[in-house]
Amino acid sequence: MPEAPLLKVDNLVKEFPLGGGLLTRPRARVRAVAGVSFALSRGETFGLVGESGCGKTTLGRLILRLIEPTGGHIEFDGQPIQNLSHSEMRLLRRRMQIIFQDPYASLDPRMKVDAIVTEPLRAIQNISKSEGKKVATELIAKVGLRASDLDKYPHEFSGGQRQRISIARALCVRPELIVADEPVSALDVSIQAQVINLLADLKKEFQLSYIFISHDLSVVEHISDRIAVMYLGTIVELAPAESFSIAPRHPYTAALLKAVPMPDPHRPTEPFPMEGDVPSPIDPPPGCTFHPRCPYAFERCRTERPSLMAAEKQHLVACWLNRGQGL
Ligand code: ADP
Ligand code: MG
Repeated sequence: MPEAPLLKVDNLVKEFPLGGGLLTRPRARVRAVAGVSFALSRGETFGLVGESGCGKTTLGRLILRLIEPTGGHIEFDGQPIQNLSHSEMRLLRRRMQIIFQDPYASLDPRMKVDAIVTEPLRAIQNISKSEGKKVATELIAKVGLRASDLDKYPHEFSGGQRQRISIARALCVRPELIVADEPVSALDVSIQAQVINLLADLKKEFQLSYIFISHDLSVVEHISDRIAVMYLGTIVELAPAESFSIAPRHPYTAALLKAVPMPDPHRPTEPFPMEGDVPSPIDPPPGCTFHPRCPYAFERCRTERPSLMAAEKQHLVACWLNRGQGL
């Protein structure tokens, strides 16, 4: 029997009310996550890509139960997380950690690095000062910083170094899953690869699984085992990472790939070829939500929503276009 997935997400929905007050009804609802399902194997790196506003961060926060879903189901290691008690949830928090996009906003400027990196551990158990020091010294070396850095404050570090501190903090409780939400998007391009390589090395050493979120397909392409492409709150394509550059099947993915600026002579850089902006998740278009921007849209696309279906083994796509050939 195949091993049970580490994480299973089933038809997950998150709506945010817009407008309205304490006593008045909201004027509208944003469907930030509109029915997402996938499973993550132990040890897998799962890339999650899509343009800004498509629901990536909301999905990440739902998985960590930092926000409550409107609908759907999440299981971690075979256990539904919805109904966990406060103390059970504390234990689960140990097993899942998050790394945020902005290393400037996510580190408390008044805390020294040794306090920052041991904070998740101190939140769940009492540790002595000397134990804390020992843990912090070990962690800081793992992320390529020096023991002397533990006595410094966040403002004394560059963006890349701060993100290393965030990574050390996430590792502190020895989690099994890390949700990395655009962990390199705020960094200089020259630094991005270093941080990605560090995450890849740590994954092996600590036997981690990652959900790696990025608006940039080229960032997740090399680190991910599988990639899910999101559009307006849903997954429109999900496949092994290597299938994407060979044969994407969703016109949206094809457009994302063409927009990737890469020093690759076989992949010319063009401006994002889709017309128009992402439609509002308050009032999504009928049928396939991508049809207003899709150069291949035909009648069925305007009326009937395609679900995520297998075009071939392991390659899922939500598109009415011929599923048998790549784009
Ligand atoms: P991404 O991370 O892909 O950029 P988000 O998950 O942040 O996307 O946002 C998805 C959609 O949900 C966007 O339209 C955003 O404006 C909306 N949204 C996110 N958080 C909230 C919130 N707390 N209240 C209202 N709308 C929100
Ligand atoms: Mg985001």
